[in-house]
Amino acid sequence: MVQILAGVAALVMAASLPVAAQVAPERPGIPGNASQTGYASAMAKEAQGWLADLIRINTSNPPGNEQIAAMYIAGILAKEGIKAEILDLMPGRSAVVARLRSAAMADPSKALLLVAHLDTVPVDKSRWSVDPFGAVVKDGYLYGRGAIDDKGMLAANLAVFISLKRSMAHLNRDVIFLATADEETGGDASIRMLIAKHWEKIAAGYAINEGGNVFLKNGKVQYTGVQASEKVAFNVAVIARGTSGHASQPTKDNPVVHLGAAVAKIGNYSAPVHLTAIVKRYFEGLAPLEDDEIGKWIRSMDSADRGEHAQRVISDASPLWNAMLRDTIAPTVLTAGVANNVIPAEARANLNVRLLPGDTIDVVLNELKKLLNDPQVRLELQPNAGLAAPPSSLESDFYAVISKVVTQEFGGAPALPFQSTWLTDSAQLRLHNVQAYGLVPFPLAQEDLRRMHGDDERIPLAAFDKGVEVLAKIVTEFAVAH
Ligand SMILES: [Zn+2]
Repeated sequence: MVQILAGVAALVMAASLPVAAQVAPERPGIPGNASQTGYASAMAKEAQGWLADLIRINTSNPPGNEQIAAMYIAGILAKEGIKAEILDLMPGRSAVVARLRSAAMADPSKALLLVAHLDTVPVDKSRWSVDPFGAVVKDGYLYGRGAIDDKGMLAANLAVFISLKRSMAHLNRDVIFLATADEETGGDASIRMLIAKHWEKIAAGYAINEGGNVFLKNGKVQYTGVQASEKVAFNVAVIARGTSGHASQPTKDNPVVHLGAAVAKIGNYSAPVHLTAIVKRYFEGLAPLEDDEIGKWIRSMDSADRGEHAQRVISDASPLWNAMLRDTIAPTVLTAGVANNVIPAEARANLNVRLLPGDTIDVVLNELKKLLNDPQVRLELQPNAGLAAPPSSLESDFYAVISKVVTQEFGGAPALPFQSTWLTDSAQLRLHNVQAYGLVPFPLAQEDLRRMHGDDERIPLAAFDKGVEVLAKIVTEFAVAH
């Protein structure tokens, strides 16, 4: 830590603390031991200012416009004497990359990549209680689109990267800072393109990215989920066809009725449970942390006689657990009708399908066809299907460092391997042999986690500070020579 601390001392001198000045004293949701003062906290305070600035730069995707945020970050790095490179991917859309070298000839297979994305999902401004791009601080929370996903992590990565530089840390591997674009839609400005065009600039053996979380329960950290794998997304169109005609004389083949029946059947369908190795380890670690009743059912999930009932109890207890145990199918968009008095010729629904890695979409489509059993309805797989990546190893040195540091920092609450139901840039990295782990290091309650992609997204500033400190410890332990 010596190097980090020295670097942070310099940070104190330079900090302009635009947000820190507004911070309320209370630390919502964070139990005692987060250090209230000191060097690490000064570093976090400076990072709060960067986070607020990044929230004020609207990067809602579409259209993204990440170039402005990329230039802001390159400017901050330039002030520190770090040459960042802006990688233009599409007009107005760029990523930014910078590197701290460990040696003249570094080994890419040892390098550590700090990844976060610049873009955010859009907002429905009318549903927010504050300006989503105002970086408003209220009751100890910083509000704004991206406060958690993913500008919080972006600012934390930046703070850790800069503190390594300021402290002139003696690195045992290259550390690469990468801010990606177009993560939220995975389109032509996304990490896929970066890998295709600029792999040599970001090639690394290890990465830390969003994807896992520090889960607070009743005000205490229950566990840290370290994402090592993720589900794979597909979209499937359900298309019902029939005869169009006058609505005054309804017919049996009305496609709206057939689509409605199909969607209802799909809504009630539950795919069979399939415990992947990571999910199995997750639940084994979780059982002793839950109350006796839930713990008992978790332990019974693969028993011969009570297994099926136990799986139902656990699936019903949490939508997250349900989705970790099986492929899921969620109808999301309905399209039908041209006028109130016309029976249309076609009605469509979109199904968002999330497969466990290892499962295949054809099996799911066949299952659904059997379930629907309606010659008027067909299923059509949509383009841009996700790619399944191999999981990151739970035996790597980096996983061990992450586990050790979070367990120490969060009062003994363990790290559990986590398979996210959502997608991240890490799948693309894993497809290129990067041991990528997902960890948004801020301790967050369900109440705050559910606001990601929703209204009034916010981050408790105390959780942000603590997360910056934890991330700094992880990176120092792994990449700084002791
Ligand atoms: Zn994200």
